[in-house]
Formats: sequence, C-alpha cells, structure tokens
Amino acid sequence: MTQVYTMFRRFLRPARRLPIWLILSISAPFIFEVLLHQRRYNVAKPASELDTPFFTSCQEPDVSAKRENAVLVMLARNYELEKANKTINSIDAHFNRWFNYPILFLNDEPWDQKFIDELNKTTRGLATFDVIPKDEWTFPKGVDVNAAKQSIKEQGEAGIPHAGEEGYHHMCRFYSGKFYTLEAMKKYRWYWRLEPDVDFTCAISYDPFVQMARHKKVYGFTIALWEVGQSCPGLFRSISEWKELMGIPDNNLWKAMVSASWVPYPFRRFLSWQSHRDSYGDSWSLCHYWSNFEIADMEFFRTRAYQDLFEYLDKKGGFYFERWGDAAVHSLAVALLVDPRKVHHFEDFGYRHAFLWQCPANAPGGQLPDSPLLGSGAWSPELENGIGCRCECDGKTNRNHPGYCLNKLKQPNSIKRPWFTWFL
Ligand code: GDP
Ligand code: MN
Repeated sequence: MTQVYTMFRRFLRPARRLPIWLILSISAPFIFEVLLHQRRYNVAKPASELDTPFFTSCQEPDVSAKRENAVLVMLARNYELEKANKTINSIDAHFNRWFNYPILFLNDEPWDQKFIDELNKTTRGLATFDVIPKDEWTFPKGVDVNAAKQSIKEQGEAGIPHAGEEGYHHMCRFYSGKFYTLEAMKKYRWYWRLEPDVDFTCAISYDPFVQMARHKKVYGFTIALWEVGQSCPGLFRSISEWKELMGIPDNNLWKAMVSASWVPYPFRRFLSWQSHRDSYGDSWSLCHYWSNFEIADMEFFRTRAYQDLFEYLDKKGGFYFERWGDAAVHSLAVALLVDPRKVHHFEDFGYRHAFLWQCPANAPGGQLPDSPLLGSGAWSPELENGIGCRCECDGKTNRNHPGYCLNKLKQPNSIKRPWFTWFL
C-alpha cells in the first residue's frame, strides 16, 4: 500500500510544480470539448411518452375484423418437436385461437413426418412446412470456407456461446438477411417470430399486426438486454462505417445505443482500435432487442438500405469469423434507419424464453370476466398500474430481468444526464 502511495506521489510531482492556473488553462479546452461531446449524444426529453401500449386492459377479440397480411414463423430443428409444440400450444391458447393467422415452419433440413403430423394437429391445420434452399443457409461467396470453419472451432474453444456450432452461424446470417427475401416469405408483409421453448403468459386479445399497421410501427419487441461482447467485437465498427459511407445522420435511437467516450478529442480516436467502438472512439452500449420475439414489417427489412447494409456486413465475414447475432444486427439497423417513434415495446405481453421473461401485472377492472371469447379462467391478481390481460404470473410486476438495458432503449429521453452537464 505504501509503495503504491509513493509511486502515486512521484507520478504527481512534476504536475505539482506547475502553477494551478497553467494546469487549468491547459485542461479547460479538453474538459469543455468532452462536455460538448457528451451533449451531442444526449437525447432531449419529449413532452410526452413516444410509445405507449396499444391497449392496457383486455379487449373483446374482434374476430371479424380484417387481418393484416401476416405470418407467424418459427425456425426449428426436427429434434425440437416437443419445445416447438409447447410454443404453438401457448400462442394458440393466448392469441391464435381467435385470430387464426397462418404459421410457417422453416428448417435447413427436410422435416420429419413426425414433426409435421404433430404440429399439424397443434396448429389446427394452419401450418406450412418449408425447407430453406441450401444456398441461403451457407457461407457467402468469396469466403475461405476452411478458414471460416477453423475460426468457428476456435470461437467454440474460447467459450463464446453457440459460436462453435456452424449451424448457429448460418442461422444468424440467415435471419439477418436472407430470411426476408425467402420465397416462402415473399407473400407476407408482417411476421411474428417464434422459437421453440417460449411461453406467452397473458391473453393477447387484440391483433398486434393491425395495431402495428394502424400506428405506423415498424419493429416490435418484448425484451432488451446486453449482447455478449465477445461474440461481435467488430460489428458496431462495421455498421458505423456503413453509416458514414451512406452519410446517415444520428437519430435519437442511435444516440441511445452509443456510450459517448469521456476521453477528449483528439485522444479518443486512439480508442478506436478497441472492440465495439467506431472510428471516433465512441462505443456501442451492447444494448439490443432480443430477436427470438419480433413482430415487424418486412417492408423495412426488404428496403434497399437494409439489404445493402446486410450485404456490406456479409462481405466483412463477421457472421463466421466472429459470431454476429441477428438480434444485434437487427437492433443496430433499426436504431440507424428507423424513426424511434416507429419502434414498439409490447410491454403488455407476457413472454418467456430461456431464463428471461417479461410479465406485466393485470389491469385493475380490465379483465372482462364475462367475455364469451376469452372464456372463464384464473389469472393473477389485478394490481395498481397493471396493464396486462389475464396474465398468469403470480402477480409479479417486474418486467424483464433486473439490470438490463430496456429503459435506455425504450426511452432514449430518460437517460440521466450527469449533474455537471446540467448547465449545457
Ligand atoms: P439462442 O436463443 O440464441 O440460444 O439460440 P437457439 O438455439 O434458440 O436458436 C435460435 C433459433 O434458431 C431457434 O428457433 C432454433 O430452432 C434455430 N436454429 C439454431 N440453429 C439451427 C440450425 O442449425 N438449424 C435449424 N433448422 N434451426 C436452427
Ligand atoms: Mn432461443
């Protein structure tokens, strides 16, 4: 301890000889520059909430209303039969028994007859089973396949989640780009992404596609969290490079994704070699929407801009030489290209996948106990400020896992300003 103290004093000694006014006048411009830089990434609080739930209580399902051109879609493997069945049972009980949307199952391998037979029953005949063409589920042209396979092996050995599985890399690349232009998807405009092993825990008594269209929303999510940094050290740099190339200005959502550096210009540029930083030295907070749940408008993902970004990323090789996830790609692309008002948080949905969940409390007096279509049943207690419909979550009011970055993404306006920037 004494040693550290002595070293510290020695380190400060030359500075102590300088007069205080000199130290201040040298550092003042840097401090001022850093404060201005922080201000650039600050997002002003709007007068009112930009994204409210479509409904905050049960609705009588309007089964005769016009549907949107939409599909529920699940990518799965034959051995996931049981978990796929579970998800479909859950969405049928909580939504699709009223709305009867078509369901599309996708696989990179031929479906087992057993999977088809079982899921045909659970989906009440609403399902189609498709196989993804081989050339949409493989390494892109120009990639050294042996080097890619070697890298995948090394990423697996380094313990990066899923990064040792070649199929997982193909899956992330597929969902990032080819999914939207797949022949089987072409006839639809909207999709709701499902995965095996998902529970819906509230009644979804309105049509989310119709509401998304009505409110001009483009992208809907339930859970946001931090990406595993090791899986994508170069992703943010590549996306920000493309942003520069295209001359795209920062909108509030992009600003909310960025943690502005506290190092002053020109020194912060020296940080740019680090992971998750752009060429100016600012970094991505790693916040992203968890893409196993998505309700989105494919018109966005099919735009020239999005597809161009995907092609750019594909050429960088990061889907294989790193393990870029489709969730991170979608989220950064949405932040870059979509007006923040067009992003919707389905905070009234009860949703669980793996060990993360969101579950709102039930709306007081909003449960329509006599509804013929919703039927009878039990639900957890109604609580003050509850917004859920017949949620079955033991009255848990917490949404998402504590500590995740949902608030920052949902309300870019609510980022706390450090007290010493108040005067700016
Ligand atoms: P995690 O949620 O990121 O842990 O990854 P999952 O294992 O849940 O995979 C995400 C989605 O891709 C799920 O719908 C899986 O069924 C699907 N998936 C992942 N790898 C493959 C694959 O090699 N083939 C197929 N057909 N689906 C896959
Ligand atoms: Mn999953």
